[in-house]
Amino acid sequence: MNGLSYLTPAGDSPWSTYLAQIDRVEPYLGRLTRWIDTLRRPKRALIVDVPIELDDGRVAHFEGFRVQHNLSRGPGKGGVRFHPDVTLEEVMALAAWMTIKNAAVNLPYGGAKGGVRVDPSALSRKELERLTRRYTSEIGLIIGPEKDIPAPDVNTNAQIMAWMMDTYSANVGATATGVVTGKPIPIGGSLGRVKATGRGVFTVGRETARRIGLDLAGARVVVQGFGNVGSVAAERFAAAGARVIAVQDHTGTVYREAGLDIAALQQHVNRSGGVAGAPGTETLDGESFWQLPCEILIPAALEGQITGARAQRIDARFVLEGANGPTTQQADQILAERGVMVVPDVIANAGGVTVSYFEWVQDFSSFFWTEDEINARLERIIGGAFSHVWDTAQQLGVPLRTAAFVVACTRVLEARELRGLYP
Ligand code: NAD
Repeated sequence: MNGLSYLTPAGDSPWSTYLAQIDRVEPYLGRLTRWIDTLRRPKRALIVDVPIELDDGRVAHFEGFRVQHNLSRGPGKGGVRFHPDVTLEEVMALAAWMTIKNAAVNLPYGGAKGGVRVDPSALSRKELERLTRRYTSEIGLIIGPEKDIPAPDVNTNAQIMAWMMDTYSANVGATATGVVTGKPIPIGGSLGRVKATGRGVFTVGRETARRIGLDLAGARVVVQGFGNVGSVAAERFAAAGARVIAVQDHTGTVYREAGLDIAALQQHVNRSGGVAGAPGTETLDGESFWQLPCEILIPAALEGQITGARAQRIDARFVLEGANGPTTQQADQILAERGVMVVPDVIANAGGVTVSYFEWVQDFSSFFWTEDEINARLERIIGGAFSHVWDTAQQLGVPLRTAAFVVACTRVLEARELRGLYP
């Protein structure tokens, strides 16, 4: 089924989902179809052993991966995930989606992703540092500012990027700030990076609303996830006059018909660790969240949250995907049949990688921009990319997700064709 001898085919695995998405794009690629199998296999997949000495003197081994799915348009770009469920197949799919996201936004990158199969919460800070440094050193063969640039993902953060940058720099004998993005500001990080994804979600949501004639003033917005992405998106929508009537996180669901006070909710979350019990809010049960009448539903927590059953009950004008892969394939179909538009993750949450691109550019020139400059450039790039995807969807009469894939795959395969095969 997947044509790769090193994978065991699995029904609804992330890689199968990705392959099905590529199948749907095939009819729209014209002469470039000749090259489509390029997208159905990763260019390069590195599996590494990551041995570390634990604090008690024992030696533990972890599986590490770095997959470069496609490098036709530029160096690889994509995060590093530390999670006990990480597999080669998952990293392959995540790398492939980075190829699509980077090309959909027209960033000069290919797609890559990395991961270590580890529960980082079971490690001390020193053990985590040793793991990060050894993993970085092992994948040092294929990463670099002009080769492949990692960034934070699930359970990795700015401190881990600082250790990665330091390890790579020590190995090459020169400070190489451009080898990773999402670094702390004092060592080459970019202003605006932390809020970039949520800002991008808002820009794409606002542009969608404008195109369907929806006035944001008073529009009801419902958000799952109040972390980095969800809280910033909620704040931006509220600032634009929308009513954020419900927010759900891992602690519960809060509701206020007149619109939640997002700044107060943020303070409550900072104090208590979650939205549950925020003053001035009603509590809802987790499932009724999915049937709240609203104009905009923003999943910004985990993958697979909009299942077929939930899709049957969603009462929104459109779903704006802040999270990666929040809508299952079945739910996607049901929403399409029910006339609920889905604005796909590869464009809606691309603000983060766009400011990562700005960070890399600033590191190369060692010249840093103001936050206003960064936000203005982010708005221009994300707004322009969304506009192109929207027009493509209109021209082809396809959903926005298919349109984003058509735009992205066309760009990748055009680059493939222009470069030709070696030898
Ligand atoms: P985060 O860890 O800051 O926040 C996650 C939020 O989800 C928290 O509010 C948490 O309470 C909530 N959550 C967790 N489990 C839940 C559950 N079972 N039910 C309801 N809520 C639950 O994460 P983040 O950085 O905001 O990322 C959220 C999503 O956006 C992920 O899918 C991530 O891959 C994607 N994303 C993030 C970025 C970025 O720059 N941070 C960029 C692109 C995509």
